[in-house]
Amino acid sequence: MATVDPERIRAQVRFLASDLLEGRGTGQRGGDIAAEYIATQFALYGLKPAGDNGTFLQKVPLQGIATQDNSTLTLLPNRGAPIDLNYRDDFVAMDETGKQRDDIDAPLIWMGYGIDAPEYNWNDYQDVDVRGKVLLMLVNEPPSDDPRFFAGKALTYYGRWTYKFEEAARKGAAGVILIHETGMASYGWNVVRSSWSGERSYLRNESAPKLALASWIQFDVANKLANACGMDLDEMIAAAGQRGFKPIALPARVRAIIISKVRAFESNNVVAKLPGSDPKLKEQAVLYTAHYDHLGIVPGMAGDNIYNGAQDNATGVGILLEMARAFATAKQAPKRSVYFASVTAEEQGLLGSEYLGKHPPVPASDISLALNYDDVPPLGVPEEVNVAGAERTTFYPAVEHMAKQFGLTIVPDARPEAGHYYRSDHFSLARVGVPAFSIDEGDKYRGHDREWGVEQAEDYVAHRYHQPSDEYRPTMDFRGDAVMARFGIALGWQAANQQSLAEWQPGDEFARIRATSQAGLH
Ligand SMILES: [Zn+2]
Repeated sequence: MATVDPERIRAQVRFLASDLLEGRGTGQRGGDIAAEYIATQFALYGLKPAGDNGTFLQKVPLQGIATQDNSTLTLLPNRGAPIDLNYRDDFVAMDETGKQRDDIDAPLIWMGYGIDAPEYNWNDYQDVDVRGKVLLMLVNEPPSDDPRFFAGKALTYYGRWTYKFEEAARKGAAGVILIHETGMASYGWNVVRSSWSGERSYLRNESAPKLALASWIQFDVANKLANACGMDLDEMIAAAGQRGFKPIALPARVRAIIISKVRAFESNNVVAKLPGSDPKLKEQAVLYTAHYDHLGIVPGMAGDNIYNGAQDNATGVGILLEMARAFATAKQAPKRSVYFASVTAEEQGLLGSEYLGKHPPVPASDISLALNYDDVPPLGVPEEVNVAGAERTTFYPAVEHMAKQFGLTIVPDARPEAGHYYRSDHFSLARVGVPAFSIDEGDKYRGHDREWGVEQAEDYVAHRYHQPSDEYRPTMDFRGDAVMARFGIALGWQAANQQSLAEWQPGDEFARIRATSQAGLH
């Protein structure tokens, strides 16, 4: 741990964020060079390859799907005029199946929140056959302040739009129409419109069921539809949050033609292994992750067209590499094996880590703990650490103890209702049952008040986050990144040596998946 050096992290960030790496775009040359570079570093440290066929690279098959402007969506109430929707202004849609054209003509069911959550004894799918149908539903989850009911004000995964599409597909539905409401989504229609009207990426060759129509509509459109069906949308929404809610077959059909442009491409995760020293426990593992991809280069864009991604996430990769190097120099490896995975396609929707979670180097049930680093600000010596999600695991007392040793105050998630836990790579491991969280700094730094840290964060979001200006600057101070690396090493070392595997707290939304995978049923 003592060998971790902030200047080595600086050197990695400086190179990874240089223009030569062209913004490390997924499926682009710069991304592939970054992957080869990281693999080379792992090899030089003396770590073992843990990718495909004895290499450090794990190939991630991807496909890009772009809905074309001539796609249509029409709502047909049994009585009254059809409601024709304008692409982008009224609706956005993706055909997840990867077909070039899909014709959908299906009955419409009002599904409320569209949730099947056994641990909260809530199942909107219970008494309804949704196969081949289109499901109208809400994002978010039934509102509650009760921490035992959908974790109170905090958002669980059941509230995320990704869950809504996945669950409906698992149940055999043809499509989902999500009603967009700014308060419930926590962002405006402009965000939905812009992030859904270009190309979106998916894992290719996945056996998981997919929707022919994965779509959003404006709130006003839903209102119009409800009125045409002789119903009141506000009353429908209120009823959907009550126990005993039952889905309603609406007196309406959906007709859609979704035209897509589809292309296949690939990228690589980079995976290395430090074999454990205990003859039995070495079959089990601790996993570190940090995504290396960023937004790449945009040919033809005026001005600076390279999204260097210095802070997002060359910092995390710099930390990961420095941890890997430090572990490799240890006189004796810890009992369990330690894996280092720099994943791709995070910016495309956590796809590299999703693939890693579905194709882990050891079974997910044997991974004790996964620790992730994403976007760790180079602002000096931190006095706080953010480990949101750690409190949901049995490993939390160890985290608290270690934070105290490091003089770090654990800060709570400032906005649990925004569901940040479900938006970074650790979540891809959590969803296959592995206790997982990200390690990051809080806002308070030595020599500054918290206000200064908040200002720095706001300045970053306003002027550099996901912009070509997220570049390496010599004034960056990597001492904090080094602290986060040492803290992560200390936690991982303990998880790799302690008697039992880390687990989710009983009743947690991921505890059931963990139990299933450990029983060998997954
Ligand atoms: Zn990131």
